[in-house]
Order: sequence, then C-alpha cells, then structure tokens
Amino acid sequence: MKIRSINPADNTVLKTYDYLTDAQLENALAKADSTFKNWRQTSFAERSQLMLKCADLLEQDSRHYAELMTLEMGKPIKQAIGEVNKCAAVCRYYAHHAEGFLQDEIMEAEASKCFVSYEPLGAVLAIMPWNFPYWQVFRFAAPALMAGNVGILKHASNVPQCALAIEEVFLRAGFPEGAFTTLLVPTNKIEQIIKDDRVKAVTLTGSEGAGSSVAQLAGREIKKTVLELGGSDPFIILADADLEKAAETAVNSRMINTGQSCIAAKRFMVEAPIADAFLQKMKTLMQAKKTGNPLDDDCDFGPMARHDLARELQKQVDVSVANGATIFLDGGHQNPDTAYFYPMILTNIKPGMPAYEDELFGPVALVFVVPDAQEAIRIANDHRYGLGATIFTQDVTKGEKLARQIESGNVFINAMMQSSPGIPFGGIKKSGYGRELSFVGIREFVNQKTIWVG
Ligand code: NDP
Repeated sequence: MKIRSINPADNTVLKTYDYLTDAQLENALAKADSTFKNWRQTSFAERSQLMLKCADLLEQDSRHYAELMTLEMGKPIKQAIGEVNKCAAVCRYYAHHAEGFLQDEIMEAEASKCFVSYEPLGAVLAIMPWNFPYWQVFRFAAPALMAGNVGILKHASNVPQCALAIEEVFLRAGFPEGAFTTLLVPTNKIEQIIKDDRVKAVTLTGSEGAGSSVAQLAGREIKKTVLELGGSDPFIILADADLEKAAETAVNSRMINTGQSCIAAKRFMVEAPIADAFLQKMKTLMQAKKTGNPLDDDCDFGPMARHDLARELQKQVDVSVANGATIFLDGGHQNPDTAYFYPMILTNIKPGMPAYEDELFGPVALVFVVPDAQEAIRIANDHRYGLGATIFTQDVTKGEKLARQIESGNVFINAMMQSSPGIPFGGIKKSGYGRELSFVGIREFVNQKTIWVG
C-alpha cells in the first residue's frame, strides 16, 4: 500500500509515497525524543527567532504552499493563500507571546514562596485532517514548539504533500531535525505510536469516530488528549437583524472551503417574519458563488476534497428529502464522476433525518423557520455537537443573553465564526474537549508544576 496524492478536480494521481518502514518509524521517534532533550533547554528568544523565520518563509512562498493544498484537496487558491498567511500569523503570535503565557505564576499559599512552573511534556502526536491542512497543524505546532515540546504529525492520507511541506518549512526556518516530524504512516500504526513511551500526549482534529478511537487508546495509556471534532453549528437570525449582513455572513460561513469546515454555520434558525426574505437572499448569494478550476483566482468553491465525501453528502441529502425535507435550492453531486457538489438549501428538516441529526460536511444549508428566539435556542441545543454558534440581532444585550444559553464552545454575535490566534477555540459535547489558541491553547500540553518553598 502507498499513500497517493490525488487532485480531486480531475482525479489525476499527483504523487505516490511509500509508508514508513518500522525501522524508519523507530528512527523518527528516537530522533524526536533526543531532540526534545535539547530543545526544552533552549530559550524563548531562540525559539521565537526560528518561529519568526518560519512565518517569513510561509509568507514569502505562500503561493507555492497554497498550490500544493489546492492541488491535493481542492481549496480555491485565494482561500488557500489566506490559510498559509494565517499560519504565518499564528507563528508570529506565539513567537511574541509564548514567554509571557508561560511565565511562572505566583500562588497564594502558606509558603514563603509558591508558584506554578509551565514545563514541556515531550513529543506530542498530532493527528490532523485534510480540510485546513496547514492551519490545523500550525495552530497546534506553533504553541507546542514554543512551549518546548516537539511535534509529530500523522496527517490525513489525502494530503501527504502538505504534510511533508510543513516539516520542510520548519527545517528551512532552522528548527533542529526532530523538532517537527511528519510520519507517513497508515491509521493502523497509531496505536503503536500512542503506546510508545516517548510520545507524551495526543491532539486530534477530525471526525467523532476517529476522536473516540484515539481518546480510548490514549486513555488506556493515561496520556492527555485534546479533541477538536465535528460540528453542526447553529446560526440564529432574529427578526431585528441586519438582514443583508446576516445573509451574506451566513452564505460565506456555509460556503467557506466548499462547505468543509467544522465551524461552518450549518443550521440556520430564522424568525418567521423575515424567513422568506432571508431564504431568497441566501439563495441569490449561493447561486452567485462561482465554481470552476480551484487554481483560478475567481473560483469561490471547488471540488470537495475526495469523491467519497461528495457521494456521502449526497446520500445524507437524499435520505433527508425522502423523509420529508424540502429542496429550496437544488444542486448536489450532479456528476458522480467528479467531486464537485453544487450548493443546496434544505427546509422542513425534522428530527430523525440525517440533516437534523448529523453533520453535513459540504455546501448544504439547513434552514429552520422558528416562531421566536427560544425555539431557535431549543433547536440549536438539540444536537450532539457543540462547537460554534452565531447570532444576528441589533439588540446586542439580548444577543449576549442568548449566547449564554447556547451549548457550544464559541458564540459570535453579528460576525462570522472563525478561529484566530488570540482567542480560545474548541468545543463541548461530541465536538470534543480542550482548547486551542491564545494563552489557553499553549497551556494544554505543558506540565503545570507547582513548586512550594517552605
Ligand atoms: P477522519 O476523522 O477520518 O480523518 C481525520 C484524521 O484522523 C486523519 O488523519 C485520519 O487519517 C485520522 N483517522 C481516521 N480514523 C482514525 C482512527 N480510527 N484512529 C486514528 N486516526 C484516525 O475524517 P474523514 O477524512 O473521514 O472525514 C469524515 C468526516 O469527518 C467529515 O465528513 C467531517 O464530518 C469530519 N471531519 C471533521 C473535521 C474537523 O475539522 N473537525 C475535519 C475533517 C473531517 P486517514 O486520513 O489516514 O484516515
């Protein structure tokens, strides 16, 4: 078996790679472990210098890195360049802030001195998905490396070129070999890697199934995990909302990355008096999105990342429609020989349908017409996921009150839900646990050691 890098836009095989042999895997883990012993001794200033260099390289060569992503998983090139630049931003953010976030913290105690010292753990395994193949990795790697850990990446099998490019950019920036290692291994090697004593913790972004399986393995080994899993984020539009802005934000959120984002708004609860107007605007805006070759600058949505993802999404739509959901905007997986999926809007969604119960990981908007805000909140919370949420209303005080009632890790009011370096990010319920980014993220993979002086 080999790893294949396939262009989902035309199904061509771009490259193939052999999986690591057992001996190569052993060497990589040994190298990561030995590098950690030196890396943990380096100063924040030394680490910052390398991290800033890495940011410069990403920006300088953003088109090159972006094209790899577009070719392997179909992201429209403009968005891909944006993603690479965002990775540079997170490198800079932690280069500047890591030392402050990890300073000793004095505790109030009956001691002559008591403080918490934040110390690195060692090699942290990152199991990452294909949808934001650089950003998901950098938002883990920048804080982890700045904290003195080393990173080991098992990336999704459809983005091996991106996975190797990330390792390469860290090396080019001057990080020592073993500070960040990409392992081209199949999923069935993960158990062995998690069990390895040299691996101290695991972070996974991906599906609920993968998260549950990895958490079980890590739990058995008493190793810390952070999980960032699926979402079916609600987007509530109250009758007093700025309708223009709400519809535009709703469509941009649903369509980003061709609908393949964990924090894309997926379920839209709109108050009845403005429902028709909202649906019309949403339809017009979705129809205006341009598709085509994702390497073209004016492409808004490309193919989905893999054929099977487009097929699976169409199945979820078909079952929902067979059970009574209404198609308000028709699109879908029109040519099964391609991975292109055209935007859709469904209404009349009821419990029991895949559109109600599951995550639709592609450009399908699910619209619920509700009598009032309380019904919107009830539907929003009637889901096993709890990642992000959005509320549009001119009454910000009411918006904040409602935000507190939503079961999720993040709520954005009158703005598009996003993850960015300075704000904590993560979910509750089956969307996972732990937080990434900001000062919270960098403290996930450190030993928060209490030191007491009597
Ligand atoms: P997966 O969860 O299968 O893949 C994510 C990562 O986990 C990949 O590196 C994958 O490796 C690995 N993985 C898969 N299964 C296991 C396992 N049992 N143990 C350890 N690691 C595992 O996502 P898919 O690509 O299959 O996408 C399916 C669905 O997952 C989407 O429709 C969406 O609902 C959700 N998803 C959510 C994401 C998010 O951002 N939260 C991102 C991507 C997907 P490999 O590629 O080798 O299988």
